[in-house]
Amino acid sequence: MDRKNLPIIFLILCLSLSGSAFRDEGLFPELKGHKNTMNFRVWAPAKEDAAAIAGELEAYYKRFLRDLKYGGMLKKKPEIYVFRNYQEYLDKTGTLGYNTFATGGIAIPRSARKPAKIYSFLSDNLLSEVLPHELTHLLFKEITAGLRTDASIPLWLNEGMATYEETGRRYEGYVNAARARGGLIPIAELVNYTNYPSAQDKRALFYAQSASLVGFLLKNHGGSKFLAFSKKLVRGGKNIDEALFSAYYPQIRDVSELSAEWSEYIEGTSH
Ligand SMILES: [Zn+2]
Repeated sequence: MDRKNLPIIFLILCLSLSGSAFRDEGLFPELKGHKNTMNFRVWAPAKEDAAAIAGELEAYYKRFLRDLKYGGMLKKKPEIYVFRNYQEYLDKTGTLGYNTFATGGIAIPRSARKPAKIYSFLSDNLLSEVLPHELTHLLFKEITAGLRTDASIPLWLNEGMATYEETGRRYEGYVNAARARGGLIPIAELVNYTNYPSAQDKRALFYAQSASLVGFLLKNHGGSKFLAFSKKLVRGGKNIDEALFSAYYPQIRDVSELSAEWSEYIEGTSH
């Protein structure tokens, strides 16, 4: 062995050790609670908050993998920062350069060097809705696009998947109410949205109906086909008719057949 290398190796070890010690203290002195689990690193105002959040994250992660019939996938442990309240969240994410006004949380996908991050704040629906929603955005991006910068997830698919993974399936009631008053968004329109509808009612319906469409595909046709379909759409360069044909033939061959099957499905589930 070349003895000249020894001091350098020693120095690198020291740096990485002090680096990890620093990281456990977190980036925000307000967040005194920390919990490190198999797949996540969580910071929250108190230790009990961090432990409860980390436990739920592990459960959402398992559910996501089960829904998509997929094995483990996290390359780097995502970091989750949960602030005491909305104002603190707004201020702290603002200092990082994010405009989080009127949001419940944000998910920042990982880069080649940095782990993915979620920022949010303590609230009544943090564990049931915000965290499973934001985590799903991260996981779904990772599984369909990885680090590819030329890949983009269609809005309905991205929000539909994230809303579907929220606990409680509140979207179902919303879709049924819209159906009863004849106010559903046509599927051919829904799958082509590139911006969120500006009216709040329509935006909420867009999320709910997208989740219902994702739920239909997952429950009636399974996680493997859904994942194949999503990958073809996100990074396979296919449009939605081609991706449907390729993943769901002969049951579903294009958007009009998707629309017809979904309509039948929600009629069956709304009684
Ligand atoms: Zn979302």
